[in-house]
Amino acid sequence: MAVHAHPDDESSKGAATMARYVREGVRVMVATCTGGERGSVLNPAMDRPEVWEHLSEIRRKEMEAAREILGVEQAWLGFVDSGLPEGDPLPPLPEDCFALQPLEVATAPLVRLIREFRPHVVTTYDENGGYPHPDHIMCHQVSVEAFEAAGDPERYQEFGEPWQPLKLYYQMGFSRKRIEALHAETVAAGLESPYEEWLQKWSENHEEDKAALRVTTQVPCADYFGIRDDALRAHATQVDPTGRWFQTPLDVQRKAWPTEDYELARSLVDTGIPEDDLFAGITESVHV
Ligand SMILES: [Zn+2]
Repeated sequence: MAVHAHPDDESSKGAATMARYVREGVRVMVATCTGGERGSVLNPAMDRPEVWEHLSEIRRKEMEAAREILGVEQAWLGFVDSGLPEGDPLPPLPEDCFALQPLEVATAPLVRLIREFRPHVVTTYDENGGYPHPDHIMCHQVSVEAFEAAGDPERYQEFGEPWQPLKLYYQMGFSRKRIEALHAETVAAGLESPYEEWLQKWSENHEEDKAALRVTTQVPCADYFGIRDDALRAHATQVDPTGRWFQTPLDVQRKAWPTEDYELARSLVDTGIPEDDLFAGITESVHV
């Protein structure tokens, strides 16, 4: 089960991992905390009044298309997007939003879904949210709380029979090392590198670099980068198909960094570190 803050996050973070496991016969559930109602339109071609007017509806359809491309199941946890506050001082968050819900209220639907779907592995963001969007930080908090509580018969009693997932992972994003690898491979292929500017702006002490030191698990999934990109493009209001993300040929990406990376945050099974499989150490299997 992959827990995400908004529709589109599942296609930009860990999507190739999910696509791979699905094609190896694993059932994968994406839990989407919010409807992405306060997101913006990030694709110039979609930046039209009629799109803005029906944004929530359109984002649901985009999610459906991405779900089919990835081959996953998907559930909405039913919360309202908090939006990304901007300005100095930052404006207060809207009252109805996900990030302002009491932890127990925000966690209950995820506990219910875990008890229904009964995943062995749960993935989420680290404590910094991967990037500091209030919904991403809340997504982390809710996932940790649900991982701890779902197996406890004393807690969330009205939300189903207890089920204890065995491993909890945090997804890791773009570290300097990863961007450097992509840059080097792009230049080696004789192409103009879109990573140069990114590297120049990269600050010392970047949160992502600190997080990258905590990687325990690199899942090979290069063969699924194409599916990942197709799923991402399905979120047409959220990504510009002509943007930087899609400029680098897949072969270059596969050579530069063929894995998606995770930190094993909790484990109830014995496993050796480093790992290359989110299910390492989980011995239970189903014989048909
Ligand atoms: Zn998001």
